[in-house]
Amino acid sequence: MPGLMSGKNIVVTGIANSRSIAWGIAKSLHEAGANLIFTYRKERSFQKLTQLLDENGVKPLLCVACDVSSDESIAAAFAEIKEKVGVIHGLAHSVAFAEKDDLQGEFVATTREGFQLAHDVSAYSLVAMAREARGVMTEGGSIVTQSYLGAERMVRNYNVMGVAKASLEASVRYLAEDLGKEQIRVNAISAGPIRTLSAKGGVAGFNDIITAMEEKAPLRRNVDQDEVGDATLFLLSRLSRGVTGEVIHVDSGFHIVG
Ligand code: NDP
Repeated sequence: MPGLMSGKNIVVTGIANSRSIAWGIAKSLHEAGANLIFTYRKERSFQKLTQLLDENGVKPLLCVACDVSSDESIAAAFAEIKEKVGVIHGLAHSVAFAEKDDLQGEFVATTREGFQLAHDVSAYSLVAMAREARGVMTEGGSIVTQSYLGAERMVRNYNVMGVAKASLEASVRYLAEDLGKEQIRVNAISAGPIRTLSAKGGVAGFNDIITAMEEKAPLRRNVDQDEVGDATLFLLSRLSRGVTGEVIHVDSGFHIVG
């Protein structure tokens, strides 16, 4: 939809490479005419991001380092965004992390440290970023995060990340209430499994999850980054202006299957 997002400044987090869900989001937003601001953590991600932007002819407003496990880093990133861009209209939150050991075997074995780390990076980061984003969303806005079915159901091996995603989805509802007064909406996409760096390398038995989708989902196939990107674009755009506190499944309908 060319022009849908023209004049809108949107912050996109979480691009590690071309397979990242956030890259699907960035492409959809770019095609819709948004001005893009990117955050990254690792230097390697910044290099990949720069390469992707060059190859696809995307000229960002700004690229800024942001480690979402640090309040100081988040505050510094949004201070720079405020200084250089002024107003933002959207935030795509697409970051998560848990130790590999905590994404296999029994959930009951999760350590205190592993539990805290997964919740800190994958759920609290949305709260911390929303707080900083609020000060720059002076014309109202939309915040969208990425969740997964493991928040609602037991998905074998997803373990602590499922519990962190449940926290993330609950945070969406509480943030929607707080920020709604300022016409800032907060929603989540619950995406089907997609072969990204984090998913392939992190979650044990990931191939079995993909196969189950192909066999059981109503659409009999998996979703891809572009489909999640388009749904995220919808939630970031005025087309969804009456929607907040919602979790939309982009999973070929897998979540309705008993
Ligand atoms: P990617 O590995 O492509 O992206 C994960 C991103 O998280 C990376 O860019 C990484 O940055 C970033 N990240 C991790 N820790 C931090 C941190 N402390 N500070 C800043 N950034 C951090 O994987 P996905 O695209 O799959 O993941 C994006 C989101 O989508 C996650 O929330 C994930 O749970 C969710 N999701 C994924 C699904 C899937 O099957 N792939 C399904 C449903 C939801 P860096 O590399 O620079 O550390």
